[in-house]
Amino acid sequence: MTVQPFTATVLGSPRIGPRRELKRATENYWAGRIDQDELQKVAAGLRRDTWAELTAAGLDSVPVNTFSYYDQMLDTAALLGALPARVTGIADELDRYFAAARGNADIAPLEMTKWFDTNYHYIVPEIGPDTSFSLHPAKVLGELAEARAQSINARPVIIGPITFLLLSKAVDGASPPISRLAELTDVYAELLGKLADAGAQWVQIDEPALVTDIAPDAPALAEQVYSRLGGLTNRPAIFVATYFGDPGAGLAALARTPVEAIGVDLVSSSVTAIASVPQLASKTLVAGVVDGRNIWRTDLQAALAKLASLLGSAAAVAVSTSCSTLHVPYSLEPETGLDDALRSWLAFGAEKVTEVATLARALREGREAVAAQIDASNAAVASRKTDPRLNNAALRAQIAEITAAGVQRGSAEARRVAQEERLHLQPLPTTTIGSFPQTVEIRKARAALVAGEIDDAEYTDRMKAEVAAVITLQENLGLDVLVHGEPERNDMVQYFAEQLEGFFATSNGWVQSYGSRCVRPPVLFGDVTRPEPMTVQWATYAQSLTDKPVKGMLTGPVTILAWSFVRDDQPLADTADQVALAIREETVDLEAAGIAVIQVDEPALRELLPLRDTDKAAYLDWAVGAFRMATSGVSDATQIHTHLCYSEFGEVIGAIADLDADVTSIEAARSHMEVLDDLNAIGFANAVGPGVYDIHSPRVPSADEMAASLREALDAVPAQRLWVNPDCGLKTRKPDEVNASLANMVAAAQQVRAGV
Ligand code: GLN
Ligand code: ZN
Repeated sequence: MTVQPFTATVLGSPRIGPRRELKRATENYWAGRIDQDELQKVAAGLRRDTWAELTAAGLDSVPVNTFSYYDQMLDTAALLGALPARVTGIADELDRYFAAARGNADIAPLEMTKWFDTNYHYIVPEIGPDTSFSLHPAKVLGELAEARAQSINARPVIIGPITFLLLSKAVDGASPPISRLAELTDVYAELLGKLADAGAQWVQIDEPALVTDIAPDAPALAEQVYSRLGGLTNRPAIFVATYFGDPGAGLAALARTPVEAIGVDLVSSSVTAIASVPQLASKTLVAGVVDGRNIWRTDLQAALAKLASLLGSAAAVAVSTSCSTLHVPYSLEPETGLDDALRSWLAFGAEKVTEVATLARALREGREAVAAQIDASNAAVASRKTDPRLNNAALRAQIAEITAAGVQRGSAEARRVAQEERLHLQPLPTTTIGSFPQTVEIRKARAALVAGEIDDAEYTDRMKAEVAAVITLQENLGLDVLVHGEPERNDMVQYFAEQLEGFFATSNGWVQSYGSRCVRPPVLFGDVTRPEPMTVQWATYAQSLTDKPVKGMLTGPVTILAWSFVRDDQPLADTADQVALAIREETVDLEAAGIAVIQVDEPALRELLPLRDTDKAAYLDWAVGAFRMATSGVSDATQIHTHLCYSEFGEVIGAIADLDADVTSIEAARSHMEVLDDLNAIGFANAVGPGVYDIHSPRVPSADEMAASLREALDAVPAQRLWVNPDCGLKTRKPDEVNASLANMVAAAQQVRAGV
């Protein structure tokens, strides 16, 4: 086999379209407004443009099959014949695929969960005893043919068998999916033959699972699989890509196989083992030196030095992004509102491609060939180092002072007594998680404000009317601790980012979150400070309408970091403390304004958990420290709540206890209160509100059903410590569903109280 080497590439690209064209087209297709032909035309156009741009920018190998109508794991399940039996009756291929992703009236969708430690969600394939793998390569072969017809040097990308199986879920009593690895490898072998026949020179096989501790034997499995695939005679050259961390022993394992290239992420880790793997000397090392998942401009000089240090370790070094640029916006070009300095620090998707090409050119032709680009990069690095917005000495001193004084509150018992005296709550108090339905009126008002049809004062009046309606509703329902309903918030992170110094909001910085859903994460570029109170007027207005306590509603530091693009020039822990101080100042102002209960949401606590076990304790340490920094500025009589959701809490359960919130509401409606046993097992003794109903479904649970959940909870937690609440915010639900469900929830609490 003669292998054409490549020198510059990316591991994958965004696919939603520079103006979210794919989102619009798929949603139109789902709504029946356009037909499949039209949808496919949009998709083909986006692929063509992407490939043309990558080629024009100077990449000499272009990833294909990274396009997806919904998700690459679901694509892989379809490729391998591993869609669940409940969708296989749907004759049309694309409709079958969408049914698996989204469900329909008769079919439950597959589950969705976070892709490693990113904010992208993948569809979790189900592997049951009846799953029989078979090859369905039409999509990958189609994209390959399409690209070749456009004279693109195309490199098909597929998810590798180890990652596919480790991220899948066993159903119907099947053994762990990874036990099917040998059998699945045969299907990959067949695929490689087909790709070679179709003219593919290279194939990229993604194995990010190698950077995790999901399976301790993953390196050994990789050696088996890639020895087998590498031993095939009819195949493209194989490039195994690892990303999101250090592959550890996986690197040497891959190097011992006959694959031609191995990719490592040199941004999220230093991958120190490279020099000590002798077998790399016969391979291409694909060096991910340009950050594929954050938006900072690459320090070209530092990257070049890194590349130079690798030259002796491998037969060839190719330049690449650390991972797919799926995780960053398309291009900086539409961001016209930035000052020059800020702009010079950034690189979005298109700019990153140019950086890759520049670095590859420097390797090929020498540093002088790209001297101008290196100068510009150096200037940006220097300006970022000295910009006063990134170095607020007073802020840093203040944080050091608070940390030195300790971020503890009074003892849990002292707090309980002080809060009881102030709040006089009955046992099993009822509350909600914060948001009420985002009604048509709210959306209309927001759109009108953006369009300039109404002014700020009119907008505020309309939101106040919403708050008043939500307060009246809660009083009528008989809830104990009320909320203002969050009508003024578009998003629980962006709302705060817009009011804090050190952040900026992009105008078109969309990234795919899942399927057609896109988010626009704010950019946290500098030291974070709070110029003025952010929520006090809403909370006090709501409180003025009722004698019941109204909860102040804030987002916690970890969640704000998790859902933003965060500066990479200092440890996350330091940035978290700055955000925490801003939240702390807000809690102090809320308390001074008479608010007696404050909730600091941390739904993303589990998300930022590092992929390697050895890094987890340090993360949880700073995450808990930041939460305590945020919540320890108030008196013992002010009740601090937190809310957690979206995940299995097993690994972070100890940290939940360490947050030391007075009340923790936690998603449990779907996990049947197991979380309470877990909390008990570690001696958690504060109050807890395990969600008694699932807000992700339109179903209205009956009072009896929720009462049964509460009685079950009372087996684990005494009545004095048990709160009654839904499992998350209500903003995505319809008003009728919410009213009925909450009425039943209050009735359930009454039933159970009467029996306590
Ligand atoms: N307070 C937020 C709400 O109710 C919490 C949202 C969340 O947990 N994701 O909407
Ligand atoms: Zn939630």
